[in-house]
Amino acid sequence: MSEASELDEIAREIRSCTRCRLHMNRTNAVPGEGNPKAEVMFIGEAPGENEDLQGRPFVGAAGKVLTEAIENFLGLKRSDVFITNVVKCRPPNNRDPQDDEIMACSPYLDRQIQTIKPKVIVTLGRHSTRYIMEKIGKQFRSILAERGKPIKADLGYGEVVILPTLHPAAGLYNPNLRKYFEEDFRTLAGLLGREKDKDKRPSIFDFLNGSRARGKEGNSDILK
Ligand code: SF4
Repeated sequence: MSEASELDEIAREIRSCTRCRLHMNRTNAVPGEGNPKAEVMFIGEAPGENEDLQGRPFVGAAGKVLTEAIENFLGLKRSDVFITNVVKCRPPNNRDPQDDEIMACSPYLDRQIQTIKPKVIVTLGRHSTRYIMEKIGKQFRSILAERGKPIKADLGYGEVVILPTLHPAAGLYNPNLRKYFEEDFRTLAGLLGREKDKDKRPSIFDFLNGSRARGKEGNSDILK
């Protein structure tokens, strides 16, 4: 089976999944999207309101930050990478996903990783970082302690580099954190050999122009 067919099959199973309580309130499950042979895979936390309505990952304000970063720092299109979350259905009121929900949903993420076989996995925020770090036998401290430090690992298909960074919503919530997110994308560009003209790149948060973040971006727990 091709990578695309395998990902389609995983997405089909996710859309009809009732393995955890999060299926009860979803409008749409959000399996993830992107290049079935992507070199880099981004793993966020959980769908928010916009994602639940559209059935697509990272389509709100945080998604705009992520898309700008992919284009400006890596010189790639969104469709060149694969974007998903550690849980595929929206937690009520954008609360954090609970451990049993992550455990129930993680086999889908594991299968997506094994299908795509990315060279670099970028974990966005503490939930996906903790999940992947524990999977490779590392202790997770906090996202601010782990971010920006690439970890070489073997997930069963060859060497992969894990790069933890902040959830893009963190920079919307707290402007002081934007420099960390941008710094980590420079590190990512280096890992992918795509670091040309890095000094000319604008801030990826410039598009905000003072607009207020909404939804998940208002969750002050995002940095724990
Ligand atoms: S969050 Fe994951 S495990 Fe829970 S119902 Fe949705 S797809 Fe199934």
